[in-house]
Amino acid sequence: MTTSAASGADHQRLSGAPTAIILQPTSLCPLNCTYCYLPQRHLSQRMTPTIAAAIAANIPDDWSAQAPVEIVWHGGEPLAIGRERLIELLAPFEQLRTHGRVRHVVQTSATLIDDAWCAVLTDYDFAVGVSLDGPEHANRHRVDRRGRPVFDRTLAGIETLRRHGLDVTILAVVSADNAAASETLDFLAGTGCTRIGFNIEAAEAANRDAHTPPLDQARRFWRDALEWGETHPQVEIRELERLLRFLALDKQHRDADTRHDPLPTIGFNGDVVLLSPELLGVHEPRYSDFVAGNVTTEPLPQILRRAAEAGYVREFLDGVARCKASCEFFAWCQGAHAGNRYFEHGTFTATETNHCQTTYQAPVLALHDHTIGKDISA
Ligand code: SF4
Repeated sequence: MTTSAASGADHQRLSGAPTAIILQPTSLCPLNCTYCYLPQRHLSQRMTPTIAAAIAANIPDDWSAQAPVEIVWHGGEPLAIGRERLIELLAPFEQLRTHGRVRHVVQTSATLIDDAWCAVLTDYDFAVGVSLDGPEHANRHRVDRRGRPVFDRTLAGIETLRRHGLDVTILAVVSADNAAASETLDFLAGTGCTRIGFNIEAAEAANRDAHTPPLDQARRFWRDALEWGETHPQVEIRELERLLRFLALDKQHRDADTRHDPLPTIGFNGDVVLLSPELLGVHEPRYSDFVAGNVTTEPLPQILRRAAEAGYVREFLDGVARCKASCEFFAWCQGAHAGNRYFEHGTFTATETNHCQTTYQAPVLALHDHTIGKDISA
């Protein structure tokens, strides 16, 4: 007998085949952004090739049946591991990559980018995401360990990437004191990038004092972004593109439940956390630090097969079931992200969060405002 609100069919909501595997090759980051959520970014803990080999050797064929599995090199600053070690970590994935079964993605501050790094990123066909929050004043939270701004170094890195023909997606954090959509978009598009994603700042892990914009401010931000997007069709705004793709589905597909991606995130030591990369490295005895297994002792597919045994995963599925029963945005958001429930409410069974308001509800409300021409500028 279970006391869980989500049981049986609800546990089928978890997909066994992730679309992406997030790797943290090193916990280290040379930056010290004031909004960073990583608790161990000052520690130089590096992944070994043995761990990369254990991951690559256990990626089943069916995971890439629809599209290559994204191997997302995330941080800290993944390039802080150094070129030689990263190449050693890439080697076990080479056969999978050349057969179209995986695709490498890196998310970087671009401050370490030089010609040699660009050669590596080109050789291994990386998709590159760069973190940049807009014009210089919007990047005051992005500083190095000595508190110096990294804005100029990031711009120089983007310029080098583009000179090498590498296409860049920019990811910008939107905070309550930095939420001018058209100014941000004008600047970021001026760097030559054609894809922009926005992360609305949220309370996560080490970033407990987040400057999250309230719902109305986020709603204005997305409304302005929608208007900007109409006059700049050559630039894709990731979140709005997703929403418009969802709305273009027929009703049957819009109303269908989606299976949640387990989104395994693997730390430098092979530990696997599920659902939210932000849970990696967070000490929480109640949930065994969110570690669902370790790839050195158990293949990743096996860890994922028993994912719903982890207490926090079960709780999250309960929370999703509660969202489905109570929220008019559910079809679109499918319960959003696990980590935000925990960081905002201390439990995964919670439903509404500031994050789901600003990232899922606000764009829908903004589209409504935009469609009926409602003035919400006040
Ligand atoms: S918008 Fe928030 S409350 Fe509504 S379904 Fe999504 S996560 Fe749940």
